[in-house]
Amino acid sequence: MKLRNMLYAVPLMVSCHGDDETSTTADASVSTGADFDCERDAPVKDGSVAHYQVEGSTCEEAANNLMEPYAGETECNLKVDYSGSFAAADTHEKCCRASISDVTNNTYATVLLPHWEGCDPCFDKFYKNLVTHEQGHVDYCNEAGKTLENRVKNIPSKTKCAMDYAAACDLAWQEIEDEFNTIFDEVSNDLDQKDKQYDNDTNHGETQGATLNCNCEH
Ligand SMILES: [Zn+2]
Repeated sequence: MKLRNMLYAVPLMVSCHGDDETSTTADASVSTGADFDCERDAPVKDGSVAHYQVEGSTCEEAANNLMEPYAGETECNLKVDYSGSFAAADTHEKCCRASISDVTNNTYATVLLPHWEGCDPCFDKFYKNLVTHEQGHVDYCNEAGKTLENRVKNIPSKTKCAMDYAAACDLAWQEIEDEFNTIFDEVSNDLDQKDKQYDNDTNHGETQGATLNCNCEH
């Protein structure tokens, strides 16, 4: 059996909340006098987090400086790597059977969230609800990664015959890649649909309280 090390990866960035990168850096002064104890501890599970800086000394100012049109964003990097193994098919020297091997799921989600130095119970409430909303996108991303991994593992081997063995292997491998691309498109389109449906159902997190209302009840 001949083994070729053919790593193949297609990264895809699925951006749920547009391409805005309203990143601002400024010293935000901290509002004082509140006996409210700022926690803002709302970890994202199975995803990494990046923060953008939000200026403002009051909740209202912070609200005006949040990323537009949505305060948070989840990017899904849907990625499954694999290599191939090749063998002469049957006893025929000019036929080659290509198979998928070493399938690795390298899918990951990154959540962009606001970082505000100020302290306000309504902002904290909003922040936690925003994390809840983005966690939904992270979960869809990770599910899609697992689906892609399982489907790629089940791609059957392909046998092709040609002028010589190497050419036969190239043809067989091309069939594997074509099938991978079809599966990848299906899984990423399905993920896209789920993200859109989720944002429709929640109005981009509004129904989950993921919009900042500085006059919130707390
Ligand atoms: Zn969303």
